[in-house]
Amino acid sequence: MGTTRVALLGTGGTIASASGADGQLIARRSVAELLDGCNVPAGISVEPAVDLDRINSWDMDPRRMWRLAARIQEVLAEPEVAGIVITHGTDTLEETAFAVDLVTAADKPVVFASAMRSADSTSADGPRNLSNAVAAAASPELRGLGVLVHASDELHAARWVRKVHTHHVDAFSSPTFGPVATIGPAGRLRLVHRRTARWTPAWPLDPDVQVVAMTPYTGFTPGLVRAVIEHTGARGLVLEGFGLGNLPGNLTSVVGDLTERGVLVVIASRVMAGGTFPVYGGDGGGVGLESVGAVFAGGLSAAKARLLLMCCLPGASTAEARARLVDALDVLDGGFQVAR
Ligand code: ASP
Repeated sequence: MGTTRVALLGTGGTIASASGADGQLIARRSVAELLDGCNVPAGISVEPAVDLDRINSWDMDPRRMWRLAARIQEVLAEPEVAGIVITHGTDTLEETAFAVDLVTAADKPVVFASAMRSADSTSADGPRNLSNAVAAAASPELRGLGVLVHASDELHAARWVRKVHTHHVDAFSSPTFGPVATIGPAGRLRLVHRRTARWTPAWPLDPDVQVVAMTPYTGFTPGLVRAVIEHTGARGLVLEGFGLGNLPGNLTSVVGDLTERGVLVVIASRVMAGGTFPVYGGDGGGVGLESVGAVFAGGLSAAKARLLLMCCLPGASTAEARARLVDALDVLDGGFQVAR
């Protein structure tokens, strides 16, 4: 019986980090070194194992994300490659995984692996995470599920997963829906959800398109939003609102003005679970915000809504971009079903 081939791309992160002679903890290990320290499951060969970046993920940006996505597509186009693993820092992993998910059309498993403990720490979690992710990328049952994030023996959908702890090993969760699959003893996979729909932009992307995200707070000065839009010339704005997607009342007219001027405004929630729903009337309430043109992000976090908006704006008028966004949200807010 032949072996199943899985590719591995490294981008850095804590999984690749170790302290040097200078005492500084930085991403220094190559993916080939990480691979040497982990158990590659029997019947799987990992190649090629290539470092695309060796950075901490606070330095990720859309340009790098889409470059990574293009590389993933190239690698997956090779018929002998069954799936791919990407190592990444945990800080912005959910953004990169989502950006890659949006633009990757392949059915082969794409699995992100990370670690909360550095490669040189006691009980480092990286080797187990990497070995699980490699096994997942080789699994035919995980085809067609979109980009998956491995964390603590679970596989999460890129669109739902969030980092929920700053330093515990168990740092990721999909707050509203739970994981797409779990990994049991002896690596046994249990599928919890199946993907039923996908959305992919059919036009060229532009990593320089300006979309800003802001988090209003109690007592917020609405002029800040106007100043930021004027300063950046942004075509899109994501506001991370309260609860179901409400904002301080004095922002409703600002949102209305910006919408009239052609800025696409999206409302997300700073609450992790449940998603946005326009329910309340009056200034600041979601119903009023919707009536002045804001689009609600549903279950997407503000950071992911920003990436989606970046995907919708290039080459489109505001009205066209809005239609693209509404269409995308319709798919991305659902698009998975409980697996039987
Ligand atoms: N704490 C981060 C990590 O887990 C650092 C980073 O995101 O690169 O990798």
